[in-house]
Amino acid sequence: MAYGPAPESNAEVLAWLSKHKSFGHWIDGAFTKPGQTFETRNPATAKPLALVTQGSAADVDAAVKAARRAQGKWGKLPGHARAKYLYALARLVQKHARLFAVLESMDNGKPIRESRDIDIPLVARHFYYHAGLAQLIDDELPGQTALGVCGAVIPWNFPLLMLAWKVAPALAAGNTVVLKPAEYTPLTALLFAEISREAGLPKGVLNIVTGDGDTGAALVNHADVNKIAFTGSTAVGRKIRMATAGSGKALTLELGGKSPYIVFEDADIDSAIEGLVDAIWFNQGQVCCAGSRLLVQEGIADRFYEKLKRRMDGLRMGDPLDKCIDVGAIVDPVQLATIRGLVDSNTEGETYHAACDVPEGCYYPPTLITGLSAASTLMQEEIFGPVLVGMTFRTPAEAVELANNTRYGLAATIWSENVNLALDVAPKIKAGVVWVNATNLFDAAAGFGGVRESGFGREGGWEGLMAYLKPIRVSKALAQVKP
Ligand code: NAD
Repeated sequence: MAYGPAPESNAEVLAWLSKHKSFGHWIDGAFTKPGQTFETRNPATAKPLALVTQGSAADVDAAVKAARRAQGKWGKLPGHARAKYLYALARLVQKHARLFAVLESMDNGKPIRESRDIDIPLVARHFYYHAGLAQLIDDELPGQTALGVCGAVIPWNFPLLMLAWKVAPALAAGNTVVLKPAEYTPLTALLFAEISREAGLPKGVLNIVTGDGDTGAALVNHADVNKIAFTGSTAVGRKIRMATAGSGKALTLELGGKSPYIVFEDADIDSAIEGLVDAIWFNQGQVCCAGSRLLVQEGIADRFYEKLKRRMDGLRMGDPLDKCIDVGAIVDPVQLATIRGLVDSNTEGETYHAACDVPEGCYYPPTLITGLSAASTLMQEEIFGPVLVGMTFRTPAEAVELANNTRYGLAATIWSENVNLALDVAPKIKAGVVWVNATNLFDAAAGFGGVRESGFGREGGWEGLMAYLKPIRVSKALAQVKP
């Protein structure tokens, strides 16, 4: 069932897809001939969208060689000259925003309202911001130089945004890039590559090689790559850390999470519930920093759960291209089966599925599970779907203890009208970012990243830029020192 006005037209996207049908890699400023291909599908309809090439080690090598050839000249450009290209990329993302947003929703299943109003504007913002930083590098960071060729491996949950998080700082700092998008969602990266030609980006500065984890591993293991920037699961992050150990490659890892969402009894409950809807049902819960563990103070727990269930029942699920829906499709049937398997195998507590219409196919309803023990799998493991687990606490100290009771440390949210309490609790939580009376605040100027098994390194802001630079100290003898 569709709600509200007619879906966003996807004619422009279909025209672009039918122009290509089958994609090669983007290497040295052009698409290569497609090789052995696999399908990428629209999870909402199960229909194939395009064929993309499974990248081999030889493809990765060709891309790295192109990036190496381009790096010398690109790295020597003054920062303000590189900034011109980043500004052009930002403006072109805005110019083609609708095409990007619809394509993203078709490839990933996320609601068009999110790709149109959040993902794509944040991508443009990221390129604008880093264009600004590129202009400052020469004066503000003398003695810092680009790393060289950077390999980027990204996940499927925010396909173009994760590309922007990697490509914008890398190029601003004078590096060239070989990026491997996730196998479920390669299309906006390929569109972006095509659009980089419109921006006049020199050949070889940005290269995209599509494929699965084997292609990612070939990039990670390539001897002529100077840095790997990875966003994805903790399990793959661990393999990459081992593969790069001792290789001299720089490394940043943005991994999984099980972020606590703490509501104190003096909180504005209605606002805390709206925040929670965003924290766990944004992008169907397929968000690394999703507030997937609700910790609510005992005195308000019954009232909070009752209001939350009513709000869940009002969420609208359906066609991701319908502007009125809140919850779209899960990215792939494999992912859906994982979510279902985790929930169905649980025997503890009480499970509540939102009473909304769940369309046929790759959809899973917003779900709340309460009454679990703190050590249970669902309390500890990242589900990466629209499933919230909830438990109660009595004191601030207990809230902190429960909040820190996982192996992760990506984000946390605190809801309280008592700012002293919130600011006392915030630094005690082991997380890379803590939001107070708000959630999911992302900005290109703010470093984002985790601690513990959520990874290390920051993306965004000066901290993020520094991860793409290395200091070179040149000491000159000013005069001969005679004995
Ligand atoms: P994933 O780890 O399965 O895959 C991520 C990428 O790594 C894909 O491109 C995949 O092809 C590639 N890959 C797989 N095996 C590889 C290997 N051995 N060597 C090199 N590359 C390999 O993760 P996913 O399922 O695509 O994404 C979901 C995960 O990403 C979740 O755990 C989520 O929390 C995490 N994530 C983290 C952040 C963050 O900023 N911390 C942001 C988004 C997603």
